[in-house]
Amino acid sequence: MTEVQLAGSGGWVNAELDDEQVIKSKLVPNIDKHFLSSLEKLETKKMLRHFCKQCDSEFEGPTKIQIEEQPNEEVADGLTLIERGQYTCHKCDSVIGEYRVFQKKD
Ligand SMILES: [Zn+2]
Repeated sequence: MTEVQLAGSGGWVNAELDDEQVIKSKLVPNIDKHFLSSLEKLETKKMLRHFCKQCDSEFEGPTKIQIEEQPNEEVADGLTLIERGQYTCHKCDSVIGEYRVFQKKD
């Protein structure tokens, strides 16, 4: 497990990621920047700290998770969007980043 800072539109989250997630969270392989939106929903116990731009503060522990929709809708051939939601600040509820969970058909 590696602690990685993941950028979102409204702040960042520090989370423990496995090697596969570290690679997946980079949009551009050679640039050392990681993004929340590149990963599927993070487990709250893996989130160590978060920063909220709205509060301009860093907090210990995980964000809150706000489920936006669970459409269960096929978005591409064999790929179904299961859930879409946001990581939100536990203090002011503003959005720190977002996630999407997909399911692939075998
Ligand atoms: Zn906040």
